[in-house]
Amino acid sequence: SARSSVTVLGLGPMGQAMVRTLLKAGHPVTVWNRTARRADGVVADGARLAATPAEAVAASELIVLSLTDYRAMSDILGDATAALSGRTLANLSSDTPDATREAAAWARSHGAAFLAGGVMVPAAMVGTERAYVYYSGDEEAFAAHRGALARIGEPRFLGADHGRAQLMYQAHLDVFLTALSGLLHATALAGSAGITAETFLPEVMQLFRAVPDMVAADGMAALGRRIDAGEHPGTESSATMMGATADHIRAASESAGIDTDLPRAVQAHYRRALDAGRGADNWTRIIDGIRSPGA
Ligand code: NDP
Repeated sequence: SARSSVTVLGLGPMGQAMVRTLLKAGHPVTVWNRTARRADGVVADGARLAATPAEAVAASELIVLSLTDYRAMSDILGDATAALSGRTLANLSSDTPDATREAAAWARSHGAAFLAGGVMVPAAMVGTERAYVYYSGDEEAFAAHRGALARIGEPRFLGADHGRAQLMYQAHLDVFLTALSGLLHATALAGSAGITAETFLPEVMQLFRAVPDMVAADGMAALGRRIDAGEHPGTESSATMMGATADHIRAASESAGIDTDLPRAVQAHYRRALDAGRGADNWTRIIDGIRSPGA
């Protein structure tokens, strides 16, 4: 059966992985990249290199963008707006929700449907069973192109607000980046006692992997339901106990002479809960101060 044609703008590691996945599934793929020689590999694999962004846009109804940020989209499509009418732009690049909503309005003003997407796996996992992508925006366009988009990763639609998929992406990266800083901070702390990173990292993974079981024996959705309901029963680990631990981590970091910014940020979350008289509540009570730091 004939597969729909797809255009991919942007050939970083992610764009290239998307092109290869689409080609493998039998989609004709047209590409364009600011640095043209970066297309050599995917052209050898069967992609067609367009001479201009306008030509690339004209080649397919679905235009996938994989760029450093949303400004790059304006830079690329600024002179190709006449070609946009009737097309669907699926921008899978990172930026703020506000920039994403602005770009969607800009696309609409040129007659194009707009989907914002956040790819939740690195390039090597694009097109595999573990790949998933959050989308939001024009639902009709999403439905029309779902088949081709599903090649990249399992599409998960989050509604009409273009900023929402972007925020979902940022929220995931919030966990990722914070966890990575936590891991290396802990590695430095252990290192101050002569424990090597080689020893420490596999060791601490026991705790890291067990986080879901440790924070919610009845499951993360149940924990979430309690947080949504504003319920923080402190039966297992109180804010007071966790706050004391946060104090100890800060003090240990200070005497080790390593960074204290990260432990001080964590300590501040517990301090706020304790100052609000919530020490007997579950540690999840810190979400109040995280949501409203000025309150
Ligand atoms: P790269 O930074 O390697 O690729 C960026 C692409 O954007 C290149 O094609 C580059 O062109 C182009 N570009 C940047 N600025 C401009 C501009 N002003 N005008 C024209 N083209 C421009 O990124 P990745 O492929 O790694 O990532 C792409 C997107 O996917 C990013 O938003 C990233 O956050 C997201 N992402 C990345 C993941 C990863 O593991 N890499 C995982 C999940 C999401 P040129 O080749 O000419 O420089």
